[in-house]
Amino acid sequence: MNVRIKEIAIAFILGAVFPAMLFSSFYKIHFQEPASTTQPTETENTTSEKKKIYISVLMKDGRIEELELETYLTGVLLREMPASFEIEALKAQAVVARTYTLRRYERGGKHIGAIICANASCCQGYCTEDEYIQSGGSQASLDKIKSAVMETANQVIVCNGALIEATYFSCSGGMTEDAEAVWGNPVPYLQATSSPGEETATHYVDTKSFTVAQFTSLLGINVKSPSGKWIKNITYTDGGGINTVEICGVEFKGTTLRKKLGLKSTAIVMTVVGNTVTVTTKGYGHRVGMSQYGADAMAVQGSLYPEILSHYYKSTEIVTYDTD
Ligand SMILES: [Zn+2]
Repeated sequence: MNVRIKEIAIAFILGAVFPAMLFSSFYKIHFQEPASTTQPTETENTTSEKKKIYISVLMKDGRIEELELETYLTGVLLREMPASFEIEALKAQAVVARTYTLRRYERGGKHIGAIICANASCCQGYCTEDEYIQSGGSQASLDKIKSAVMETANQVIVCNGALIEATYFSCSGGMTEDAEAVWGNPVPYLQATSSPGEETATHYVDTKSFTVAQFTSLLGINVKSPSGKWIKNITYTDGGGINTVEICGVEFKGTTLRKKLGLKSTAIVMTVVGNTVTVTTKGYGHRVGMSQYGADAMAVQGSLYPEILSHYYKSTEIVTYDTD
């Protein structure tokens, strides 16, 4: 009787449990993460080696190229951060770009047939190693960028186990911005934070002048007798940007001003003298997430890339990306 039970148990394990276990691991490999329709099919890998991930990139000329992730990231860094920056800033940038890319890989990007595009003002800039060298980049700079990517291989930033939306930008002007102030929705790890040491950045401060007629025309408003008092009731965001401002009785968001006036950031100061409106901005970009110049300034002061990343992305951690 006991032998019979044993035989039934073994038959049950072989017939039901073992196939279920196989299906379970198959399910985990193939269906655990939501995949976009543009995601390339990965080859089944039965070895313990990590599977290579390929990213479909929409190039500026309209072609779509499939690039191995780490190769793609080298091309992103070549375009997105100067090789003259500190190696720890470059490593931070590599982890940020990898996280930004893999989040789109998992969830699908906004481009038809591609995970991401090579336009820096839309997704992430990109250039090939050949293009970099041909445009005057040195082999030493290329090697430095490559080492930043390789030395952080597979490392990504997560919050509560999920890849974060790792936004980044050039220069904050001293303070980064809340995600909510720019895009309307709060993101716990994208909060306004100080970002000192950026004073040498090209666009730390910018000034743009308009005639009153140009200024009001760009905003689509009328002012009959301009004086300093027609710009009033300014409220500010936690990151030092304009939240709202009343101009000739019309309320504008800081983000709207930036767009309509073609400004570098929403950290705006406006002064009216006579017929001229002078607009001064601090920083360059949306100012949400990691400041590239701020990251370099932290690295100069001795911060390693994990410290840089935890400064700009609150309550996050660095983990190894699981390709299974
Ligand atoms: Zn894009």
